[in-house]
Amino acid sequence: MKTFKTIAIIALIISFTSLAFAWGVWGHKHINKSAVFALPESMRVFFYNHIDFVTQESAIPDIRKYTINDKAEGPRHYIDIEAYPQSIDNLPQSSKEASAKYPDSILRRNGFLPWYIQDMMDKLTLSFKERKTTEILFLAADLGHYLGDAHMPLHTSLNHDGQLTNQRGIHSFWESQLPEQYGHSYNFCVPEAKYITDVKKETWRILKHTHLLVDTLLAIERNVKATFPEDKIYLKDAKGGILKNKYGSPVHTPEYSKAFHDALKGMVEKQIRSSITATADFWYTAWVNAGKPDLTSLDDAELTKQNQKYYIEDYNVWKNGKLTKLKIEGEF
Ligand SMILES: [Zn+2]
Repeated sequence: MKTFKTIAIIALIISFTSLAFAWGVWGHKHINKSAVFALPESMRVFFYNHIDFVTQESAIPDIRKYTINDKAEGPRHYIDIEAYPQSIDNLPQSSKEASAKYPDSILRRNGFLPWYIQDMMDKLTLSFKERKTTEILFLAADLGHYLGDAHMPLHTSLNHDGQLTNQRGIHSFWESQLPEQYGHSYNFCVPEAKYITDVKKETWRILKHTHLLVDTLLAIERNVKATFPEDKIYLKDAKGGILKNKYGSPVHTPEYSKAFHDALKGMVEKQIRSSITATADFWYTAWVNAGKPDLTSLDDAELTKQNQKYYIEDYNVWKNGKLTKLKIEGEF
């Protein structure tokens, strides 16, 4: 008895989506759904009542970008660190400072992901303060998406799809094909959410760490490619052409993706787990900063009661590192 009507509408929108970069639908859904269970109990019960919405909504920012073609959306998903004249340590820390320093056209071209995360945090905090259920859920789910993007190394680089190093297609390979093929072995259980004393600082700590992984990720793929027979790298269609996935990127053979996944030594799983932790931490921090409003009273007591049985089951499954009932349309 969750918000079925809303879910049905969102599912309908998703089924029309053919393009959705940034962790793909698989990654974003796993991140948001897992983050619900990582919340302290005072928040977890409320978020669980709306877990299907929070899970489905995780993919909506990409739908706004690609399917609805909302021009304002794109730059919220990335930051091309190398395109800014300063080093990452000297970039403006807050969105206010960034707007004062750069014209809109520059921010839109080079991306403003870390600053947008801070803006979303302010909005989410306000919605908790005002106890507006729909806004809390919508903003929290969207924020989970952007925090997920902030953990994808190629979302912090000009070399977004390996186009500058002759590695085109690596974006989707790393964030979609690998987790969709190997995610069943990942552990989605992370420690309970903790309070972030300085949101700005934490956002930049995440971005810096993610950006450090760019060169490593690209170098690892180059090394794997160098040792692999050329005709064993991509899957071919009946006519001998390279097979493309739903994102329009080449599909790699299972042998090649295994070799790359092994060589990454857990990087994809680690970044997904860090995304879950960050999402739960940011949600929790917004709630604490809003004065810890009572969330249980926002829902009908009957709804919470009806969900109780499933809540306990799903929470226990997650405690063992897995997620129940997570259907992803059109996986690899
Ligand atoms: Zn995105």
